[in-house]
Amino acid sequence: MEWETVIGLEIHTQLSTKSKIFSAASTAYGAEPNTQACAVDLGLPGVLPVLNAEAVRMAVKFGVAIGAHIAPRSVFARKNYFYPDLPKGYQISQYELPIVGEGQITIELEDGSKKVIGVTRAHLEEDAGKSLHENFHGMTGIDLNRAGTPLLEIVSEPDMRSAVEAVAYMKKIHSIVKYLEICDGNMQEGSFRCDANVSVRPKGQKEYGTRAELKNINSFRFVERAINHEVERQIDIIESGGKVAQETRLYDSDNNTTRSMRSKEEAMDYRYFPDPDLLPVDIEPSFIDDIKQTLPEMPDDKKNRFISDFGLNANDADTLIASKELADYYETTVKFSGNETRLSANWVIVELSGTLNKEGIELNASPVSAQMLGDMIKRIADDTISGKIAKQVFEAMWNGQGSADEIIQSKGLKQVTDTGAIEKIIDDIISANPQQVEQFRGGKDKVFGFFVGQVMKQTQGKANPKQVNELLRKKLSS
Ligand code: ADP
Ligand code: MG
Repeated sequence: MEWETVIGLEIHTQLSTKSKIFSAASTAYGAEPNTQACAVDLGLPGVLPVLNAEAVRMAVKFGVAIGAHIAPRSVFARKNYFYPDLPKGYQISQYELPIVGEGQITIELEDGSKKVIGVTRAHLEEDAGKSLHENFHGMTGIDLNRAGTPLLEIVSEPDMRSAVEAVAYMKKIHSIVKYLEICDGNMQEGSFRCDANVSVRPKGQKEYGTRAELKNINSFRFVERAINHEVERQIDIIESGGKVAQETRLYDSDNNTTRSMRSKEEAMDYRYFPDPDLLPVDIEPSFIDDIKQTLPEMPDDKKNRFISDFGLNANDADTLIASKELADYYETTVKFSGNETRLSANWVIVELSGTLNKEGIELNASPVSAQMLGDMIKRIADDTISGKIAKQVFEAMWNGQGSADEIIQSKGLKQVTDTGAIEKIIDDIISANPQQVEQFRGGKDKVFGFFVGQVMKQTQGKANPKQVNELLRKKLSS
């Protein structure tokens, strides 16, 4: 039997507002437990929530960016359930009337083909607190700092057919919210996480199979592994005559397994009803227009521009737009290099990113700034240094030895372009190696490399390679 996988994702993005969605408490990450939860976040009697306008603006920004319908009126509802990290006994969310309606996300697959994934809705809600299980000796600690942090929950249609597609979709949303600067995208801190709904069905069958929901996965790698593991588990159950239970499961990344957490609630279990403490949110068309005007360039547009204006190939463009910071770094490099678009792409992708990776350093902490790299590339382009010497210069810049020009100067790395000087060196080498000259003239073309090597050795790599080649050819064949 051939099986088909069906996946729908619910992505939770923490909106990067300064204060919480219904209170003035700070949303900053990493504070001492329970120092950033005010009476509203604790749900004390007599308090009233006040909606954070910035959270609304960010949600609309997302909706506009993905071409989704923005609801002229949306409503906050209470989702009732009991959990130790939810002191009110309900979570304020949106149910029947979410702020962002249907939209679309285009993902690109490994073979270059594109696929459109439907977004069902995106709604505003508050995050819950956190239960802490370590260091409490048989008890559980509760930290309510996160309670009330604004979330935008982005719900997809069950349109994905493999773990790879799910990851591509999640990455796409991640880059969109980062480009929009509505979420810091920090997955380790839980600012961007997802629930993956997974089911399988016999290939060709129209109806969906029963799904399991894998909760709170906070890394791209884990999403892929968790889904693949879950698919196998479900197929095994069905093929051995069992039935998949509709339930919520937890992914255990240490053991790469999932385990049951609870049977899945139906919506009616939550007894949703409009929150009487909050007014409906009415959005004027002018509010949406203003946001449209200030929308930054989105990843797809940037990619197309890098290809059409900068002459990059699709692969390089993809690599560079993967994060907004990297794309910005690249564009600054191009500017300072004197518009050396491809050379800059190469240096940013290979040397810079490679060194950052190797050293485990984030781009914003790079010891070589975009301007420094651009200034250096300019010296390759104007033949002051060769590409090979540039690697030395780059390393010296990385180690804090100054700008490219300073390093070229102080280390005497300027390329030798004086034809006379190079000719003199070549003449000496030719007369010192009569045997190799004979071999070359006898048709052994490989020996040419030997001569190039000798010239480079004598000039410590500073001779202009193009010039060396031309002069050597001329002299050896005369
Ligand atoms: P809930 O709030 O109960 O989790 P929804 O019905 O809104 O649920 O669906 C949540 C997610 O589950 C959506 O992303 C949807 O695409 C996905 N989904 C629904 N049915 C299936 C299915 N049979 N297989 C895989 N995903 C599914
Ligand atoms: Mg769900």
